[in-house]
Amino acid sequence: MTFFTFAQHLKKIEAVSARLEITRLLSQLFSELKIKEIPPAIYLSLGRLVPQYQSLEFQLSTKMILRALTKHLAHHPDIYGANGSMSNLFNETDESLYEERVNKLYKQTGDIGETTEQLLSLGDKEGLKPDLLEVYEQLVQIAKEGGTGSQERKIAGLIDLFEKLDSNSLRFIVRIIVGKLRLGFSTMTVLDALSWTKHNDKSESGKLEELFQKKADLGLLAQVYLDPQHNLKAVQKLYQISEGIPVMPALCQRLNSAEEIIAKMPKVIVEPKYDGLRIQIHLGKDKNSKKWVRSFTRNLEETSQMFPELNQALTKLDCVSCILDGEVVGVDKKTGKIVAFQETSTRRRKHGIAAKAEELPVRFYLFDVLEKNGQSLIDTPLSERKTILKQIVKADTDVFTTAPFIVTSDPEELHDYHTKQLALGLEGAVIKKHDSVYKSGRKGWRWVKIKEEEGTSGKLSDTLDCIVMGYYGGRGKRAAFGVGAFLVGLLGDDGKIYTLAKIGTGLTDEQFKELKKRLNKHEVKVKPKVYKVHKNLIPDGWIEPSFVVEIAADELTRSPVHSAGKALRFPRLVKFRDDKTWQEATTLKEMETIKIG
Ligand code: ATP
Repeated sequence: MTFFTFAQHLKKIEAVSARLEITRLLSQLFSELKIKEIPPAIYLSLGRLVPQYQSLEFQLSTKMILRALTKHLAHHPDIYGANGSMSNLFNETDESLYEERVNKLYKQTGDIGETTEQLLSLGDKEGLKPDLLEVYEQLVQIAKEGGTGSQERKIAGLIDLFEKLDSNSLRFIVRIIVGKLRLGFSTMTVLDALSWTKHNDKSESGKLEELFQKKADLGLLAQVYLDPQHNLKAVQKLYQISEGIPVMPALCQRLNSAEEIIAKMPKVIVEPKYDGLRIQIHLGKDKNSKKWVRSFTRNLEETSQMFPELNQALTKLDCVSCILDGEVVGVDKKTGKIVAFQETSTRRRKHGIAAKAEELPVRFYLFDVLEKNGQSLIDTPLSERKTILKQIVKADTDVFTTAPFIVTSDPEELHDYHTKQLALGLEGAVIKKHDSVYKSGRKGWRWVKIKEEEGTSGKLSDTLDCIVMGYYGGRGKRAAFGVGAFLVGLLGDDGKIYTLAKIGTGLTDEQFKELKKRLNKHEVKVKPKVYKVHKNLIPDGWIEPSFVVEIAADELTRSPVHSAGKALRFPRLVKFRDDKTWQEATTLKEMETIKIG
């Protein structure tokens, strides 16, 4: 497929918003791709170069793209000059003549894709049709440029693409580069579209989701699945859990009492609920039999570099290869005690890692094993997995330790254990069905949490993880922060985001500053398609669905202005949930399960 054709498909997808329509259009695209084009096409259509668990960023800002555009226009005065005639060739190669035009158009549109397309459309001509894979390779090359002079080399690479491609293709390319493709679909729609490509319906979406959860690489899965020689059975055989590619983590449901829990899942394993960062540790061997260790967050982000302590796994864990699930927490060097979440999260960083590791060491509390020596264990009962885990982590050390647990069928014992954990300063308990298989996500009654409300005597039994949708300018002291309040919401069943609260009090100066940093990064000019917002709540600035904040509130009340139909009473910010994507925020449905006492 040519990149031109690929971008024509993206254009069609961009123009629609109904999920079914997007599914159909995606499946049309998939059916026209050659097998080897499938992974790149999937990553690109999701605005990336590589699967989610890998990171390959362009490190090229909007400003740099505007600069590249200016240079390119100045290079072709015959096309882009004031009157586009050859007579002006000599006095129109001065870049400053184009800079204003480029910047002005960007200010007007607020969208780098639109700006690029509008500016470059004059240069469109027949024959600008390089191959999808060729362009993909060139983009990878641009992203990989590093070191001295790399910005200039990146710009040169981009200008080369300006020469080779049509303006519609470039509209999407520059958006991918700045990380703002936003075609309005996600993993589930891609899975639906895959099933659709083969069967004209979503009949295999569920099975595909299960496969994706075992090994979260959409491009790879699509490639195996769309191979005409593979039926579903063959795909299920071929597409197996493997070290180096994360498994989608299991998450908790909520239940409100020990009695309810024991009634639903009679025999349980109960562990402390640590308030740290979820971590999945992969131990494997490369082609030369050299061992490696990697780690991932619950959002599939690789964090191996952040935790030099992980290297101890190479000698301390007893296995050839394995995938372990756990929580990482910071440990106070003096007292040996676990530190609060906020402190642990200072270990999530790109710079100054060694010094920070020295100042705040971490401990990995391991609670599950999903694979050992090439054998998948996700269908093995939890009780057996616990034994295998213990064999891998032979002796607990300061760095690697198995999470303690009790086995019980007694609500009273469960209740006492939970209360004891709270008294110890932990977040409570996680309760897991004794002989359950490992299942990603929140479906079924396998993992459950009882969580005390956070610092409030109100009526909500848990905090809510909300999506930030917009902000309002501040007055007085807040004017200095550039934000006085912000609007948050939750995801509905229909994929739309509904407002639930406007929050303007209870933030420390530090939190306001933190908030502003994130707002700056994600502000967009127009209201995102998926937002449902009442006219009385229109904010001063829109924020694309991006970051998540944990909000505590006293209760839920009915609301005529909030599109969720409910509003939070006395909402306040607990923390930024950078470990969650907006798709993982609390849903409107889940909100209903957060009991109002
Ligand atoms: P919360 O806001 O309560 O942390 P959450 O929405 O992040 O909840 P849940 O599914 O409710 O996620 O809770 C599971 C999280 O709890 C895990 O992702 C993990 O980070 C953490 N956790 C701490 N201790 C355990 C444990 N023993 N077993 C499983 N998860 C644990």
